[in-house]
Amino acid sequence: MLEKKAETFNMNRVIDDFDEMTRNADQVQKQTLKEILHKNKSAIYLRNFGINGDTTTDPEEDFKALVPLVTDSELEPYIKRMVDGDTSPILTGHPVPAISLSSGTSQGRPKFVPFTDELMENTLQLFRTAFAFRNREFPIDDNGRALQFIFSSKQYISTGGVPIGTATTNVYRNPNFKAGMRSIMSLCCSPDEVIFSPDVHQALYCHLLSGILFRDQVQYVFAPFAHGLVHAFRTFEHVWEEIVTDIKHGVLSSRITVPSVRAAMSKLITAPNPELAETIRDKCLSLSNWYGLIPALFPNAKYVYGIMTGSMEPYVKKLRHYAGDLPLVSHDYGSSEGWIAANVTPRLSPEEATFAVIPNLGYFEFLPVSETGEGEQEPVGLTEVKVGQEYEVVLTNYAGLYRYRLGDVVKIMSFYNKTPQLKFVCRRNLILSINIDKNTERDLQLSVESAAKRLSEEKIEVIDFSSHVDLSTEPGHYVIFWEISGETNEDVLQDCCNCLDKGFIDAGYMSSRKCKTIGALELRVLEKGTFKKIQEHFLGLGSSAGQFKMPRCVKPSNAKVLQILCENVVSRFFSTAFE
Ligand code: AMP
Repeated sequence: MLEKKAETFNMNRVIDDFDEMTRNADQVQKQTLKEILHKNKSAIYLRNFGINGDTTTDPEEDFKALVPLVTDSELEPYIKRMVDGDTSPILTGHPVPAISLSSGTSQGRPKFVPFTDELMENTLQLFRTAFAFRNREFPIDDNGRALQFIFSSKQYISTGGVPIGTATTNVYRNPNFKAGMRSIMSLCCSPDEVIFSPDVHQALYCHLLSGILFRDQVQYVFAPFAHGLVHAFRTFEHVWEEIVTDIKHGVLSSRITVPSVRAAMSKLITAPNPELAETIRDKCLSLSNWYGLIPALFPNAKYVYGIMTGSMEPYVKKLRHYAGDLPLVSHDYGSSEGWIAANVTPRLSPEEATFAVIPNLGYFEFLPVSETGEGEQEPVGLTEVKVGQEYEVVLTNYAGLYRYRLGDVVKIMSFYNKTPQLKFVCRRNLILSINIDKNTERDLQLSVESAAKRLSEEKIEVIDFSSHVDLSTEPGHYVIFWEISGETNEDVLQDCCNCLDKGFIDAGYMSSRKCKTIGALELRVLEKGTFKKIQEHFLGLGSSAGQFKMPRCVKPSNAKVLQILCENVVSRFFSTAFE
């Protein structure tokens, strides 16, 4: 495929188009479904359910009546056939050009989903839409650049001959990616070789160095997830002096050993620049505990951009610290399976961020989530959702997913014209449950947040956390793993442990604790660097550094991660909160 010429970006036209489309969200949804079914009319999966794409004027009714709601496990055998090289029309009318690996950290193993040219187009459409709204609020210079912490993990070819990579890898490797980024004035500071570096540590160093070399041009700082941004600037705290030395002498650090990366970076760092080196040194030394690092390094940056909602919330505090008074803008809502919604209100803080569903990216249904979690209800259409209600997103897209339960719970906050604006709530599946207790990732996050307040009184922060249900004791109990930024005395950690236990306010958990059918919650404090080892482990499995999400609950099936956690425990506390 040839790289497309960059389209000229016209902010007002993109916003007008979005307005027009969302005013007609209902018709756009019908039309989108019709096109998806027509395009994939030969797909065996659809034919098995009696759908042949040549239906009458309104295929919606047949589609909903005949095609069942599914989860990834039901689609797995079909996708496996595609991975194995079966080129018959299985889920899509034509063989797919690639397969994406979603991060799959919650299941402990990445899952496969189809990637098609339409998904690439959708990605660029979403980037353009979100950029138009962002640029209206925070205009950037035409000739500026974006410091983007993006990493393309390896793409490999399955035994059946299909290219496989993470969704972000499939996007970055697509020939249209660069033209798309150029058109929205978001060219990366780093050369391509850095993005495609086989060594992510070297790539991160080079992203930081490239950003500083282009510091006056940097208009915004981006990583797909807030974790990536925090990780980048935490790393900077350790490597800044080396970066300053490189700049001062005009010689790239010997830590960069990948030949393609060295060659590309050597073209950027061609001569000594003692002045810039001095400026960066002064800036770094003048900061108090690195507060305001990002604007100090990049004086013309207008904002910091990345996913900061959902499981990324725990990193927002640290990110705010680095960002100083720069606005934090929440990146949009999507998944390896496909994009869903764009942030069209970029001034809202990460805590308030909502996302407007883009009605032509797929056909969307919403499955009501009842408070009790009992009794399945019927899904409703995009324009039928109710403000204030929570739903699980059900996706039908051009890439062979039909009525696919995404597993994400969202809350409808308002409407933008006729399309809903939603807030990401959590992953639907319970992560901590022993008997009648039900706790999601969000419940764990809230409990950790409240206990971390006790720790912050000692000026210590929780660097990262995870959990596990330990059934090896009778009764079973919750284990929370914490890596913390400093040392403190045992009384403080015991308080934190009690606080964690009390932080789970689910009635099932509290009553089980009171009657001792669930044992005392255990806090295990980890050696510094343990979560880094876990990230390394996932990178080794093919997950990309940019797409990485920490597994918030480690199941016994995820033996390797559990082993890393258990081998690095430095102290343990049992809650006395219910004694
Ligand atoms: P992946 O499968 O690695 O592509 O990750 C996709 C998942 O990340 C989604 O299903 C969500 O659970 C989560 N996610 C994506 N975008 C957001 C967002 N804006 N806010 C919160 N969580 C998100």
